[in-house]
Amino acid sequence: MTLRLYDTYTRSIREFEPLHPPEVGMYTCGPTVYDYAHIGNLRTYIFEDVLRRVLMFNGYNVKHVMNITDVGHLTSDADTGEDRMEKGSRRTGLSAWEIAAMYTQEFKADLQRLNILEPTIWCRATDHIAEQIETIRCIEARGFTYRTSDGIYFDTSKLPDYGYLGRLDIEGLQAGARVDLGEKRNITDFALWKFSPPGQKRQMEWDSPWGVGFPGWHIECSAMSAKYLGPFFDIHCGGEDHITVHHTNEIAQTQACYGTRLANFWLHGYFLQIDEARMGKSAGNFLRVQTLLERGYDPLAYRFMCLGAHYRSRLNFAWEVLDGAQTALNRLRAAAQAWGEPGVVDEDYLDKFATQINDDLNMPRALAVVWDLVKSDLPDATRKATLLAFDQVLGLRLAEWKPVEEPIPDAVMALVEQRVIARKEKRWQDADALRAQVAAAGYEIEDTPQGPRVRKRS
Ligand code: AMP
Ligand code: ZN
Repeated sequence: MTLRLYDTYTRSIREFEPLHPPEVGMYTCGPTVYDYAHIGNLRTYIFEDVLRRVLMFNGYNVKHVMNITDVGHLTSDADTGEDRMEKGSRRTGLSAWEIAAMYTQEFKADLQRLNILEPTIWCRATDHIAEQIETIRCIEARGFTYRTSDGIYFDTSKLPDYGYLGRLDIEGLQAGARVDLGEKRNITDFALWKFSPPGQKRQMEWDSPWGVGFPGWHIECSAMSAKYLGPFFDIHCGGEDHITVHHTNEIAQTQACYGTRLANFWLHGYFLQIDEARMGKSAGNFLRVQTLLERGYDPLAYRFMCLGAHYRSRLNFAWEVLDGAQTALNRLRAAAQAWGEPGVVDEDYLDKFATQINDDLNMPRALAVVWDLVKSDLPDATRKATLLAFDQVLGLRLAEWKPVEEPIPDAVMALVEQRVIARKEKRWQDADALRAQVAAAGYEIEDTPQGPRVRKRS
């Protein structure tokens, strides 16, 4: 069965063939660790996790690389404004390094809670300064850079197809750029290396052939992806906002240095919105996984909610939608639990499921196959085995789930014990009356050879 994926670069659905089967190299732009991740960011990571699991389901060995941006992220995309790490440092009183370590840990905890597989390789920007400098030198040697008073910039006018990924209207942008470009030659030019402001000692700064400073935001991904996956690899992903700036610039850098467009497939997850607006770190509509936990939700209910929408459509967050996802997930868990031990997978259902996930990750349709399976009259053991096979992709931890045992109230247990005595003494009418009282309290008694078993009535 063939896997088909939508490639943003060509704006078309293409059949996926690995460059070096059965290996697949996949790079996902990671978090900027100056604050907590919000559930919008995590929607993108869930989409990427599903993609990775679908690749594994198809028998590929995925080498998944994710970066941690712990430096050089300015508050504006135009390479101006403050460095977010240094700003976070002033806000919290922690050092920039401590902030990065803390939010990295929090991010990894969120991935765990959402059952997102850890990347094969984590790479921190600050551990790869030498590689970034080397990549900038390479771009410089090929004549794509110029120097201003605040840094080394990429001259985008030197690359004839600059902006292809984002289908940027360069002339339109340039004409509309009434704003002062400063020393920048073109509106789309971007910093490769920024100098530390004169007279100011930054917490994060390094020596370089151009002067003390720090790398621009985009260079780390070109440098680290080339190091771990080579200059042309299978799949690169991120959120939709990365199409026009970050990924466009990553491609420009890699193209200048290595002559490739970096990845064979470019995939982008669409935004989580709240009240029709993008959820964002600086917007006031920021929800964390921790917030969901505090409100009594299982983080996997959020994962389930994300599976209900196609990754190429925006998803609106609402508590009622999350309630619905939690109820549906609980139903699925209860069904799986009731089916007992798994038997043999049903190949027809597996094929139907594979058809949907291989059709550009159509998870809403794949979930419809899940519910068809639940409603089918296949034997329990078959349904269980098949559902667990689906869960390799869904990632809902269905095999591990156990119902929470609610303690039976003491008063009910006292009635149950009185009934045991009544039965021993052959006072059958009393025993029946006691059973009725237990039932009235919402519990039922099943007599087993080991004694009575008490359960909440469903
Ligand atoms: P950041 O830490 O801001 O670099 O973002 C991490 C990832 O989350 C990137 O891939 C972004 O494209 C993505 N992202 C940011 N905001 C949202 C959102 N509201 N919904 C989905 N993904 C988002
Ligand atoms: Zn990136």
